[in-house]
Amino acid sequence: MDAKIVLLPGDGIGPEIVAQGKRVLEAVAAKFGHSFSMSEHPIGGNAIDSFGDPLPQPTIDACKASDAILLGAVGGPKWDDPTAKTRPEVGLLKIRQELGLFANLRPIETWDELVDASPLRREIVAGTDILFFRELTGGIYFGDSGRRPHPSGEQAYNEMVYSTGEIERIVRLAAEAARGRRGHLTSVDKANVLEVSRLWRQVAQRVMTEEFPDVKYDVVLIDSMAMHLIARPKDFDVVVTGNMFGDILTDEASMLPGSLGLLPSASLGSDGPGLYEPIHGSAPDIAGMNIANPLATFLAVAMLLRHSLKLNDEADAVSAAVAKALKDGHRTKDIAAKGPSISTTEMGDVVVNNLTA
Ligand code: NAD
Repeated sequence: MDAKIVLLPGDGIGPEIVAQGKRVLEAVAAKFGHSFSMSEHPIGGNAIDSFGDPLPQPTIDACKASDAILLGAVGGPKWDDPTAKTRPEVGLLKIRQELGLFANLRPIETWDELVDASPLRREIVAGTDILFFRELTGGIYFGDSGRRPHPSGEQAYNEMVYSTGEIERIVRLAAEAARGRRGHLTSVDKANVLEVSRLWRQVAQRVMTEEFPDVKYDVVLIDSMAMHLIARPKDFDVVVTGNMFGDILTDEASMLPGSLGLLPSASLGSDGPGLYEPIHGSAPDIAGMNIANPLATFLAVAMLLRHSLKLNDEADAVSAAVAKALKDGHRTKDIAAKGPSISTTEMGDVVVNNLTA
């Protein structure tokens, strides 16, 4: 396969981890006989410094012409001035908008070797394997908002809006993913209170009955889900929900595996390239020290291979190479507890060697 992959290293540890991600992609290409043409483009704080814009037009053009995008992270204290004209995060929001990335996928898997780092007991979390689908471009974050006069001072409002089409497309994506996994989809809403959730539930039910009768389907209220997620996380396979509920639940779920450095995410649209990234930020406190954990980025590479390039064997090979690195006891500082640790580049060596062995 010939594929065009855009690399957006970004700020802080972004360039260090994306450089390792690139090595993994090169190793996959060599092992499986593919040709990946990779080009780097600026986004975030470094793009503000060089071009006065966190998402320069050439970066947008390159992303639109690509098959998939691998992002490091953006932001840092250097660009935190609240009076600044623009901010690195604007680049991130804009690229999602430009590419119509309405679905955010976040897999939550626990790694047996690290499960004791979870704040929850081993018997509750070990074996957890959930794939979240969070709607990313609608709901209360994008509805009408403002302030108006009120006898007590002011009144502020945010409108929560979802249309039939927006619900159908995310439920379909999630149900298709469930079909390829353990065949179970859970939709999370607040239909006992919100009209928006009642439409969500009605549309989701119709899509599931008409198009996915083979997928086990259930609904859970958001408040119950917040409890079930930490009480019985192993009971969930694929979870689909709206923007704000997904924002909160995926952060809650990210605590289950016990380390931020191991969680990837993907943002997908109906067509065009997907955007893949680790869920952690730019970690300015450790930038340039060659100690960042690149494993979440490698798992983001696995998602890129699976979802944008449809290369499932290649994706499985990357996941297996990461799993072997952990099984063999290799740890970067953040997951080493009091034991010995290796550097970002050494972890890159280990995973590339596992892949090519
Ligand atoms: P962060 O995730 O960058 O860091 C939190 C803590 O985790 C830090 O101690 C950091 O050293 C550690 N950490 C994070 N990733 C690590 C890794 N791969 N290996 C080892 N340790 C790691 O969150 P923060 O400190 O709140 O944010 C820093 C900057 O990142 C901010 O400017 C924020 O806006 C930005 N941010 C960007 C994104 C993104 O680009 N998608 C996401 C979150 C935060």
